[in-house]
Amino acid sequence: MHPFTYTAQPARVIFGAACLQQLPSEITALGARRALVLCTPGQRALAERVAGLLGERAAGIFDRAVMHVPIEAAREAREVARQLGADCAVAVGGGSTTGLGKAIALDSGLSILAVPTTYAGSEMTPIYGITEAGLKKTGRDPRVLPRTVIYDPELTLGLPVALSVASGLNAIAHAAEGLYASDGNPIMSLMAEEGIAAIGRSLPAIRRNPADLQARGDALYGAWLCGTVLGHVGMALHHKLCHTLGGSFNLPHAETHTIVLPHALAYNAPAAPEALRRIARALQADSAPQAVFDLARDNGAPVALKDIGMQASDLDRACDIALQTPYPNPRPLERSALRQLLQDAFDGTRPA
Ligand code: NAD
Repeated sequence: MHPFTYTAQPARVIFGAACLQQLPSEITALGARRALVLCTPGQRALAERVAGLLGERAAGIFDRAVMHVPIEAAREAREVARQLGADCAVAVGGGSTTGLGKAIALDSGLSILAVPTTYAGSEMTPIYGITEAGLKKTGRDPRVLPRTVIYDPELTLGLPVALSVASGLNAIAHAAEGLYASDGNPIMSLMAEEGIAAIGRSLPAIRRNPADLQARGDALYGAWLCGTVLGHVGMALHHKLCHTLGGSFNLPHAETHTIVLPHALAYNAPAAPEALRRIARALQADSAPQAVFDLARDNGAPVALKDIGMQASDLDRACDIALQTPYPNPRPLERSALRQLLQDAFDGTRPA
């Protein structure tokens, strides 16, 4: 057993089909009275349902959450919360909506309750990102960690299959890198392996029947575990590459994670054999990189960066950016091997 340090993040988690009904009492339990409900424009109907459930505890709805949390949206939402006398915010949606809630909490100190509807995992982390003048600033701050998280699988029944699969692989990426994190610990490794297994078995079932509540529950359970890992330990090469590709080349978040992960794992395999063994075991396979690739491909997710808007002429620049201020990684970064990794991800080659 290696020496380790483990600090638990304080969050209350309510899990189960129809547990959204507990939201009003959870707001009261926080000592709050009036909630601003946050959502994307596309999830307005769900936000209205939530506001209806809250009755007079609903201060209003702010429906302009978008990817990457532009500072203007965060400022506007903070001002709306102030004008409406909200003393907490309920973020109903995926990582973009949770991110808006975090940006509000960062400055205003308002408590955030999160009701996740994807598998991105942001609700379990003290990590925030805000985009100002085209640059995304990220940081960690305990004030942005949602105080209460309500995981209701019924709210994920309408998540389109393609997004479900990509979002599930995004969650697996957090757990996979958690297994070889430089500051990893045995508790997070247990959660990581269990989270990967839950997502691995649920995605094929969701593809066969998107309304399978049991499978949706399994996927959301896995997302909780994987998000918890992301919130507790540092990420490595895979997340650095995805931040580079998303930030500098505007590629979609979950799909980028899906495509890059098998190749990042193949890169790190020689330096992190125990982590790779545990990922493979969770997916009931012999090779972790191949199992992750197959999970994506066999369930209809994209496997090539060229299919999601990346240009071949940008691969050299992506490699240069990824080499700047690298995250700690089990295998040292070598330019030619990294460039080959990006080429394989671009082409959609199954790892050897
Ligand atoms: P998203 O929140 O942008 O959602 C994608 C789209 O799906 C949106 O249009 C949304 O309205 C829609 N949607 C969400 N749930 C739905 C449902 N159940 N049914 C139908 N439509 C639904 O995507 P995401 O992948 O959840 O989050 C990505 C963002 O989260 C990125 O900006 C990423 O950087 C951030 N993120 C942050 C952290 C963190 O710890 N800070 C962790 C993971 C992701």
